[in-house]
Amino acid sequence: MGLDASLTFRVRGASIDRSALHITLEDGEISFTTSIDGHVTGAFFEGEGEVLLTPPDQVERASMTLFTGMAILEERFATAYLRFNDQTFSDLRPNLRPADDAKDFASRWDETARNLADSDALRLLATFSHSLPTRGVGGELRKSNGMDDPGSDRMVHARFQGLKLGTFDVGFDSMAAEQIWAGQLQTRQGATYYNLWASFPLNTQRSSSGQPQGLEQASDDLKISEYKIRVDVKPPTSLNADAQLKISVRRGGARTVLFELSRFLHVHQVQVDGHAVEFINNTAIDGTQLARRGNDLVAVVFPQDLQAGQTILMQFTYGGDVLSDAGGGLLYVGAKGTWYPNRGLQMANFDLEFHYPPNWTLVATGKKSNPTSVIENRTSGQASGELVTRWLTERASTLSGFNLGKYERAGTRAADVDVTVYASKGVERTFPHGSEEITVVPDTRLGRPRPGSILRTEQTPSPARNAQMVADRAAQSLDYFSKRFGPYPYSSLDLTQMPGEISQGWPGLVFLTSFSFLTPSQETDLHLNPTQEIFNRLVLPHEVAHQWWGDLVGWHSYRDQWIVEALANYSALMMLETQSPQDFRKVMERYRSDLLQKNKEGEPLFSAGPVTLGQRLNSSHFPNGYEAVSYGRGTWLFHMLRYMLLDAESKESRGQRRQAEEPFVRILRRLRERYAGKEVTTAELLGLFAEDLPSSLRYEGRKSLDWFFESWMQGVSLPHFSLKNVKYVPRQGGVSITGSIVQTDAPESLVTAVPVYGFVEGKPVFLGTVFADGPETPFHLNATLGTRRVVLDVNQTLLTSPK
Ligand SMILES: [Zn+2]
Repeated sequence: MGLDASLTFRVRGASIDRSALHITLEDGEISFTTSIDGHVTGAFFEGEGEVLLTPPDQVERASMTLFTGMAILEERFATAYLRFNDQTFSDLRPNLRPADDAKDFASRWDETARNLADSDALRLLATFSHSLPTRGVGGELRKSNGMDDPGSDRMVHARFQGLKLGTFDVGFDSMAAEQIWAGQLQTRQGATYYNLWASFPLNTQRSSSGQPQGLEQASDDLKISEYKIRVDVKPPTSLNADAQLKISVRRGGARTVLFELSRFLHVHQVQVDGHAVEFINNTAIDGTQLARRGNDLVAVVFPQDLQAGQTILMQFTYGGDVLSDAGGGLLYVGAKGTWYPNRGLQMANFDLEFHYPPNWTLVATGKKSNPTSVIENRTSGQASGELVTRWLTERASTLSGFNLGKYERAGTRAADVDVTVYASKGVERTFPHGSEEITVVPDTRLGRPRPGSILRTEQTPSPARNAQMVADRAAQSLDYFSKRFGPYPYSSLDLTQMPGEISQGWPGLVFLTSFSFLTPSQETDLHLNPTQEIFNRLVLPHEVAHQWWGDLVGWHSYRDQWIVEALANYSALMMLETQSPQDFRKVMERYRSDLLQKNKEGEPLFSAGPVTLGQRLNSSHFPNGYEAVSYGRGTWLFHMLRYMLLDAESKESRGQRRQAEEPFVRILRRLRERYAGKEVTTAELLGLFAEDLPSSLRYEGRKSLDWFFESWMQGVSLPHFSLKNVKYVPRQGGVSITGSIVQTDAPESLVTAVPVYGFVEGKPVFLGTVFADGPETPFHLNATLGTRRVVLDVNQTLLTSPK
């Protein structure tokens, strides 16, 4: 897609406006891309211009400030590459005049334009492959700007060479859930990050948690209800598969549909209702919104536009190398969530059939439907056996996966559930031995190395020998969680040893790092420091807790993913607290100190952003932002909610019959009951907490936790609280206590329910909760006679910064 010399002009005073995004081409030269089928879809501009983008809320303005130093993007640029699917070309026409050096200009920038064209190719294919004209495209059907019309399909993507900010992108896409965005590709210490400066929907009245985006949004249009996948696994590297997808079309109109699939898998054929259709495998799309999800896509072009209400049966035939031999009888199964074509996380039923050689053990999500059968193959006179197992989901799940290795097994039962551990006699080649340095990950789905641990081992551990210990620990977690959060959702729990430092908890199947198979003495042999040992032992209960939070109850969009991570983590910590309050405290303090750590630029880690930014928190400024905030701050937020409710209930129910269970656990069970098989948003979660909110937690009298959401979930700060002018005035058999709470290190708008204690005969007594808002909050509390020395937050239930 090159530039057309005959479409090259002088341009002056032209503008492209899309809601909060304004691009002005003040004065310069512009060359448009070759017209194809009557559509001009791109341009290269050189000259003087300005881009202006105003984020609608504090969270997005703070994010913009972190990356650009300004809350509002206002940048002059020297060049702009534009791509669009609408009438932008005809809109610009009145501002175009003939150019003197059209040929030179077009040829000078042609190669650049060609290089940049790829990144929007798939998106434009989706627009122009329609068999019927679509509203909003090319101005054919509607002249009015139908930007927020749900049926419109309009996009603009611009890549600028800014005078101060360097190369960056801005975009508008009516088909995305968050239609406006800006960001920049950055490298830091050899790693590449896409820093998303801002992303928000057109409608600024958005729900508090935002909406899904990209493929997640599109996935609402198509519902994959059933998968039937037959897989031939050929250790140590390859698999071949045949996947049937039953799809119902909820919203019609699309003709080109994107599926996620690992880039290492190659599609041989795609059929729709028995007929082969066109597809594009693994298209490069750097620098687009979709690029943030990786380059693992298959675009399928249907014979016609899809119609709402239609049911289609698709079949993908594909294969490739997604396995690798990790040593020690372990395979590394790459492409965890993308070994079958999918449309993001959607609840579906899976029917998986695996064929694999004998002497391997294969474990998958779902319930094994019959015993492993052996098929005798006789190919060219040679006998070779093949094992076949079939696994069916017991309830709709968002994920499906498998693991295989040279496993031995151990098992037990807990809460009427079979717990089976599959472990190899050895560990992976990369497991530390001699005196190597390695970092252990405390978790999980997308865990990141936790810096600073040095591991050495003299002897190689044997996980198979410790499998029973792991089974017993898993059973203990399962028992603890099912008593509190309701029955375990599946009929069995399998845990398989996985090479590497990351673990994952999938429905009924936990992929567990070899590090979780260490006995306490082996942990000591590895020279894990005591805090590392605690983190290492939290991994297993964290993954088991994901069976409730993450697998049974899903999350809505990237802005809500923190819920399941933090909740799985806090669930594991609640169990730890019953065993060792000191260890619990150590972990919480570690999270606090991690958040206060500063990067080379002196920016504290907590300023990476609020929990609701999800994986956007990982950026070139804070490569570990997601872990520190989602897990660390997120865990603290649940701790705060838990003790806020507990304090309030214990105060208000004084003298009355106490509930058998603490409010936090009651609410989590409510979460499970209401959201089993569904996705929860951050706002909905807080709605559950607010349902029977004690009156002392009703800020400004409202039965709502909006104040907690705004201050703590959308906020980043670790405030500091202190007391001022405390006076004790005896009156009628008691003491009247007045004073002020002074708040520092926080924005003025921050609201916090601060628990206030007084000491009676040397023991702390809870006096009440004071809503600290603003720099100084006066309070008045009544206490029993003999109360002296008022102290804030005795039990350290608030995520504050120490002075
Ligand atoms: Zn996790």
